[in-house]
Amino acid sequence: MFSKILIANRGEIAVRVIRACKEMGIRTVAIYSEADRNSLHVRLADEAICVGGPKAEQSYLHIPAIVSAAEITDVDGIHPGYGFLSQNAHFAEICESCNITFLGPSAQSIRLMGDKIAAKDLMRKTGIPIIPGSMAAVRNKEDALNTARRIGYPVMVKAAAGGGGRGMRVCHNDVRLISALMTCQAEAEASFGNSEVFVEKYLQEPRHIEFQILADKQGHIIHLGERDCTIQRRHQKLVEEAPSPVVDAKLRRKMGELAVRAAKAAGYTSTGTVEFLLDKDGGFYFIEMNTRIQVEHPVTEMVTGIDLIKEQIRVAAGESLGIKQDEVTMEGWAIECRINAEDPANRFAPSPGKITFYHEPGGRGVRVDSHVFTGYDVPPYYDSLLAKLITTGSTRQEAIRTMQRALEEYFIEPIKTTIPLHKQIFSDPTFWRGHIATDYIDRQLQLGESE
Ligand code: ADP
Repeated sequence: MFSKILIANRGEIAVRVIRACKEMGIRTVAIYSEADRNSLHVRLADEAICVGGPKAEQSYLHIPAIVSAAEITDVDGIHPGYGFLSQNAHFAEICESCNITFLGPSAQSIRLMGDKIAAKDLMRKTGIPIIPGSMAAVRNKEDALNTARRIGYPVMVKAAAGGGGRGMRVCHNDVRLISALMTCQAEAEASFGNSEVFVEKYLQEPRHIEFQILADKQGHIIHLGERDCTIQRRHQKLVEEAPSPVVDAKLRRKMGELAVRAAKAAGYTSTGTVEFLLDKDGGFYFIEMNTRIQVEHPVTEMVTGIDLIKEQIRVAAGESLGIKQDEVTMEGWAIECRINAEDPANRFAPSPGKITFYHEPGGRGVRVDSHVFTGYDVPPYYDSLLAKLITTGSTRQEAIRTMQRALEEYFIEPIKTTIPLHKQIFSDPTFWRGHIATDYIDRQLQLGESE
């Protein structure tokens, strides 16, 4: 087992990992940027090292500074969290070459799944359904137009290296496709340093259903059921729940088996997620595999009783999975709201600044994963996630009612947050009935902006 782990991240996920380490008797090292000097993760870790300036490139993405911090503090593992370097194969290789365990899959798996075109190709060969589209990067206009003609509009242009809902555009005709091709390529180059894009069929009103994978280094791979992440804004998740209101035991078994098969094909170890889109007729298609712990992992923890971070640490230390597939059960319901420092009434404009009053909800069935406290100054440099509010119940209705009262109890002042939007969602009869698709926020609540 590890004796000391460095957390190459910040915010709530750094706090989450520190908590798991403490419970396992593992010492922790926090890294922080100059903007995060007073952060909770810095206060909670056993040791903390400043690795650079406020901008992510100067600190949380600055590999030499992070590796130096790891060597100075003599850690034997690095947990990358999500975002930042968590899906950077080069970083994973450097950690391993310094004899520090990277708490994630192999660099090879990260590289393979980080390229959506290569990942789709592997899935096709593995017998996993994929969305029809181009089988390689589109090189030019003709390539894109030919693909669109073959599969029919609407289509979506997507970045091969995309993530976080960026670098994708929906197109309904040739003119839009040609302009989307240019913008996506430019956006992909700027955001991911790789301009490759591909074209695939745009599914109408799908649901986003993903499976949590857990894999050890001995070759055992299991799934921990699904999460439904259909409530999104501009292809970014806002609310997640487990189980899904539309997945029954039979569909769960079928999708779960394919998710495990996908992970096996990728030579996967550690925690990971296989994402699918489920269409109105019950057809489902692989979209991508995320090779890290995900923001929404708590909903799976709440219904399975399994601590995913601790499992991730155990398998990284070389232990075999302590649980078999037929021992995994999902009990009750869990829902998560992402509380972001954004103003839903003003096109989700970022809302950084000092929090002068912070009060978290509590009581039965409530979990809050957050790094925020009264007096905390939300920096403008990073992701806007302030907290994850998770509620549980024996039924979906119970979890929703608990969420409604928890949202009423939550005070984060004076900055703007997504709490009012969540209150609106959780009081909407359409959401209660579970009759939703990925366009719910943009179309039904009419809060999105056209792309
Ligand atoms: P990212 O890596 O940026 O998160 P994903 O490929 O995981 O991108 O897709 C994010 C979301 O975008 C999906 O949950 C879905 O809402 C939408 N999406 C992606 N591909 C399609 C598609 N072919 N048809 C319809 N919606 C899609």
